Amino acid sequence: MALSITRRKVVVVGAGAVGATYCYALAQSGLADEIALIDKNDKLAQGQVLDLVHGQPFIPSVNIHLGHPSDYSDAQLIVITAGAAQHPGETRLQLLQKNAAVVSGIVDEILEQNSYAVILIVTNPVDVMTYVALKRSGWNKGRVIGSGTVLDSARLRHLIGDHCGIDVHNVHGYVLGEHGDSQFAAWSMSNVAGIRIDEYCPMCGRCANWPEELNRIEQEVRHSAYHIIDYKGSTYFAVGLALVRITAAILRGQNSVLTVSTMLDGEFGLRDVCLSAPCIVSSNGVERIVEHRLPENEQQALFSSATFLKQALALYGTNETGPQ
Ligand code: NAD
Repeated sequence: MALSITRRKVVVVGAGAVGATYCYALAQSGLADEIALIDKNDKLAQGQVLDLVHGQPFIPSVNIHLGHPSDYSDAQLIVITAGAAQHPGETRLQLLQKNAAVVSGIVDEILEQNSYAVILIVTNPVDVMTYVALKRSGWNKGRVIGSGTVLDSARLRHLIGDHCGIDVHNVHGYVLGEHGDSQFAAWSMSNVAGIRIDEYCPMCGRCANWPEELNRIEQEVRHSAYHIIDYKGSTYFAVGLALVRITAAILRGQNSVLTVSTMLDGEFGLRDVCLSAPCIVSSNGVERIVEHRLPENEQQALFSSATFLKQALALYGTNETGPQ
């Protein structure tokens, strides 16, 4: 029987801080056979590629090269990190419009190449950009997804583990909704060593007022990016690793449950909005949303997040986002 060998090829669009850090982590992971890096600033992309390939003797075998739109045609995964950062005096809406134009332009180039890849959006505001890219592509909703709150969920797990003095790998925690201010920690789904957080905390006795402590942790997750941006201008290490985790699920068909941003179609009573929910992620992107009954307060928080995102889309004008 003939063996079917598929090269695991990833195209990364945007060679800035996030794109380059992701490439660096991905190259070391051994997950990809080929990584193509594209940026409208050709010199930047070329410099990042040279810097990365010089590390090849120290990492698993991988072909890293400067990309071209033709690379979309045989990629398994296309990761879009291209976009502008918010400038002083610029509104979120102005940034949204600028980045929507960037993302739409890249999706158009992907469509021209008859690509069968999964598209993973990272560019912020990521939930709105995922919606824009999905509508523009006209593809099946599972194939165009956003990195969503995978990073925020990691931050939550780190903070719970740190606070409880427990290995982060024994902590499960999920942040749902917008990758932004309206996100929330789904405590009903969070556990330490399989024990629900509201059972574990009173038992642990590490803090005097555990509900207050959980509230503080949730706020800290929500404000993490602001703190890091204040300190050093932008965030890229943890998001780079979060992207590698999503990449593993897709390239290896792992059926991993990850809080990526996905189009809801009736799940949780919501539709026509992209936001983070627990999703089964595999070779085709989002295979299925793990829909379950959230407690009333968390369901309300999800509704509020969806309302906020729909307002952002309405301001942007979704009529501009259809396939052309
Ligand atoms: P950056 O400015 O360092 O890099 C962006 C790159 O995109 C630049 O090199 C620029 O030349 C390139 N670019 C712009 N338009 C392009 C186009 N049309 N085609 C190809 N390349 C293009 O920014 P960064 O720090 O790498 O952040 C990238 C994006 O990721 C931002 O939108 C940021 O907000 C977002 N981000 C998302 C998360 C998340 O969890 N979703 C986390 C961190 C950052």
